[in-house]
Amino acid sequence: MFRSLSLRVFKGFAVAQATHRTSALSNGYHARKASSSSSRHSVVTSLTKTCPSCGTVLPTALPVCPNCNYIARIHDSISYHDILGLSYEPNPFAVDVALLKRRFLEAQRIAHPDAWATKTESQRDVALHMSNTVNAAYKTLSSPLHRIEYILQRNGFKTEEADPLEDLELISEIMEVREEIETGDIERIRTLEEDNDNKIREVLNTVTKSVSEKNWEETKAAAVRLKYLNGIADAIKQRLDNM
Ligand SMILES: [Zn+2]
Repeated sequence: MFRSLSLRVFKGFAVAQATHRTSALSNGYHARKASSSSSRHSVVTSLTKTCPSCGTVLPTALPVCPNCNYIARIHDSISYHDILGLSYEPNPFAVDVALLKRRFLEAQRIAHPDAWATKTESQRDVALHMSNTVNAAYKTLSSPLHRIEYILQRNGFKTEEADPLEDLELISEIMEVREEIETGDIERIRTLEEDNDNKIREVLNTVTKSVSEKNWEETKAAAVRLKYLNGIADAIKQRLDNM
């Protein structure tokens, strides 16, 4: 298996060398050595539709080819959107959730370490790294809050674990609702749940707009608000579970 792979890599390299009118014979050993070491450490900084090794159309956005067992590391600069075959532009917040799920399952099937269990150690390493990256991409993009934080990070904003809450109106709103969650009857809790769901929907609409306008200040403020509304949703759920 390994021999046939390295032969194919070697052949590709030799063809490339021949166009430079280099003696394929005298460079044979070095060519093989260079290409096998570059495939071990190969990192792609942009994704291609076809396999760089055998030229067939790749089944996913990942640099993974089931046809010739080509697999390469993905550089950190490539977005989670691109990794899962979703477009980052024009609006990275607007994600089709059903498509995201489908792309994740396809990517995970092809990069899963089990699928590479019988391959070389370096291929298994790359597959494990890729599988972890695919999981992180899905986890991040499927949560609206994590998606916002990820977009902010890519645009140079650090989102702290505990954002200082400076909006006094928001503080009193949150405290009031929190108290009602503790004391209200079931009917009141249901109403609070509905109100909170509506508020979350409003924030998500705001973010869709602010991200498309690249208004990062508004996006940051919305992320803080969403974090607190998510906290309220959890508190409501917990209270309902205990009723
Ligand atoms: Zn291939």
